[in-house]
Amino acid sequence: MLEVDDAQKRIVSAVQPLASENVPLDQTVRRILAKHVAAPISLPSFDNSAMDGYAVHAVDVQTAAAATPVSLKCIGAVPAGQAIETAVNRGTCVRLFTGSALPDGANAVVMQEETRIANGMIEVFSSVKPWENVRLAGEDIKAGIVVGEQGEPVTAARLALFGALGIAELPVIRRPIVGVIGTGNELVTTGQPGPGQIYESNRLCLASLITQIGADVRVFALVRDSLGETRAALQAAFEVCDAVVTTGGVSVGEHDVVKPAFQAIGGTCEFWKIAVKPGKPFMFGRWREKLLFGLPGNPVSAFVTCLVLVRPALLKLQGAKNLWLPAHPGILAEEFANQGDRIHFIRANVDPKGMVCSAGLQASHALGSLANANALLAMPPETIWPAGRTVEVLRWEF
Ligand code: AMP
Ligand code: MG
Repeated sequence: MLEVDDAQKRIVSAVQPLASENVPLDQTVRRILAKHVAAPISLPSFDNSAMDGYAVHAVDVQTAAAATPVSLKCIGAVPAGQAIETAVNRGTCVRLFTGSALPDGANAVVMQEETRIANGMIEVFSSVKPWENVRLAGEDIKAGIVVGEQGEPVTAARLALFGALGIAELPVIRRPIVGVIGTGNELVTTGQPGPGQIYESNRLCLASLITQIGADVRVFALVRDSLGETRAALQAAFEVCDAVVTTGGVSVGEHDVVKPAFQAIGGTCEFWKIAVKPGKPFMFGRWREKLLFGLPGNPVSAFVTCLVLVRPALLKLQGAKNLWLPAHPGILAEEFANQGDRIHFIRANVDPKGMVCSAGLQASHALGSLANANALLAMPPETIWPAGRTVEVLRWEF
């Protein structure tokens, strides 16, 4: 059976990024940059004040102190969004507000709190060094430098920078369209489940994970365990999707028809079954240039294989540099054991101090522990980890 890291390598090497497109800035959040982005201007774009106060010549106030104030004549003001033509000559000052353009001649700003208005003059009680309280043009960003690298995501913080640079649109990779199909005669979505029936949940869960990964999700109707119905559903999904994720029907029972249905529409099974717990009956296939991920039906298996095996592929389709789940150090608050012969992705809970506990029952149908978990531990086979050990915890959302 294929090991997880080999399966990851094979999947990732089968995937090429989709085409790039130019998108208005306000629609690029979480998209991946298709090219390096250079700063079209410097930031700040002009020298400006870091404080409410007065633009001065630093030398004029070098002796200013509480007992020996210096008086300056105020010759104007620069409200937000304006500039002043008049230069600040020696012995004078100009009223400024945070962000006001520094007038010519001035080389420092005295804080308002260090001043007082007296007899029509401004009394200054404190000295300032040259360029104190001034934000210099270009001290943050110099025009021309790379401010976003190809393969990096557009985060809220990068949007702040791109917006401040006046960038109107960005080259990003097209979002993949990913279909989600659930299979199983036992599944119902509404009403009272009949004998042996259960409420369906995988499509909801996978659709939300896949949306978080940045893809455009299409959820298809539930499919019964019939070869004909599954064939038709796969065919319809591949018509409109770049990748299709199915759940259930990919194991070894006679009702598991996903693999034969996929082959019947011309799909190639690249591999099937992985040495992983949960998630062993996982299938990866190609239909023309498109991808099939056949996930197990057990809800936790579907969840884990989506994060570990589907996520890197969907990120690579989007041109992302970093394909892997964020891994942080954590300290075990209790002993963990994997007595099995496959790597076990254990549902865990890591607290804000980094202490790691089991999230509960680790069976592949157990949703209570999944809902409690905020981390996975990738635990090698036949291993015992004592309490106190430092381990890597894998995260997916915060
Ligand atoms: P299967 O892989 O089709 O044999 O399904 C394995 C287990 O997962 C069974 O107990 C199914 O009832 C359950 N299951 C399959 N698909 C879903 C689904 N979409 N939502 C919730 N449970 C499911
Ligand atoms: Mg089934």
